[in-house]
Amino acid sequence: MSTIEIRKVTKKFGEFQAVKDADLSVKAGEVVCLLGPSGCGKTTTLRMIAGLESATSGDVLIAGQRMNELSPEKRDIAMVFQFYALYPALTVGENIAMPLHYEGVSPAEKKARVGMVADILHLTGVLDRLPGHISEGEKQRVAVARAIVRDPNCFLFDEPLSRLDVELRHSMRGQIKGVLSNLSKATVIVTHDQLEALTMADRIAIMRDGVIEQVGTPHEVFAKPANVFVASFIGTPQMNLVEADLRSVKDGKAELTFDGAPLAITVNPAVSALKPSKVTIGIRPRAFAPVSKAGKSTITAMAELIEPMGAETLIHARTKSGNDIRVVVPREKRVKMGEVMHLEPDAAQTHVFADGGKAVRA
Ligand code: ATP
Repeated sequence: MSTIEIRKVTKKFGEFQAVKDADLSVKAGEVVCLLGPSGCGKTTTLRMIAGLESATSGDVLIAGQRMNELSPEKRDIAMVFQFYALYPALTVGENIAMPLHYEGVSPAEKKARVGMVADILHLTGVLDRLPGHISEGEKQRVAVARAIVRDPNCFLFDEPLSRLDVELRHSMRGQIKGVLSNLSKATVIVTHDQLEALTMADRIAIMRDGVIEQVGTPHEVFAKPANVFVASFIGTPQMNLVEADLRSVKDGKAELTFDGAPLAITVNPAVSALKPSKVTIGIRPRAFAPVSKAGKSTITAMAELIEPMGAETLIHARTKSGNDIRVVVPREKRVKMGEVMHLEPDAAQTHVFADGGKAVRA
């Protein structure tokens, strides 16, 4: 069974801990993206799974077998790197067939397998060309074809699309996801691009400073971020993280005041111990409803910068109490610079973070 699991994996470079106690399991057929800012330990984690880097402690399991002491070749993994190198003097077909060379596959079988993956990746028409005579997108697909031709145990991708231009990246995301979803293999993809993770992953593992902060489906990490870091990292434009006054917590309802407006947010009844205090709340820019008049549950904010985004407009505004917020409204709203807006924050889409930035969930 194609599975990947890491248990309490740590990597130290001298005194520096690049990965700390990482736990992750990837099921057969599942695509998990490791997502996080530069230097957070994504590539090191991937390299430990591949065997290109040894774990300082913890276990790396592939197909249920502990792999820590096995060399990369013995792990039966196919890896696609950001800087894949194709052999320039070999045709596309010969490049794809290369991994089979070392496996003693018969010429007929080789031809059949290359034909099959070329078909999956829409490369049949360019099999006889040299890499110098195909497009960047086709080269990327050759790199993927070369990885899947061997039918390995699982796949590892390190920033596979970062070399491509925006448009090509967009179409390749869908194509790679389509190919992977038919292969029943455990796959880990490293990326720093949240859009890539949100569109390609079945689950996303979000890392910061060597720690996996949250693992969840794209919807979970967006709708239920575990902490302030995940909340701020996922979602464009970024979630507003502002200070609010927590008045009370009773029967699973937190009563807060944000910029003069009362907010009643459903929270886990177990957190009734929270004392009245200043807390951080998170409100997505699309969770403010603009209304025509000030009311009991509205906040007031002045538009300071307007950024048209096509069908929507992003407004940078300053509230009465001096909070800088981002608000997204439909283009038809036609807000002007300097305009005073009345906004109703949606309590159902507001997150409370307490206790060092941890989400207080319903
Ligand atoms: P990026 O997206 O920039 O590639 P990353 O999240 O993949 O970042 P890693 O490459 O895993 O991050 O690096 C994690 C940390 O470990 C970084 O601070 C990096 O400088 C450090 N590091 C990585 N490899 C080594 C090494 N061989 N020796 C010392 N430090 C290293």
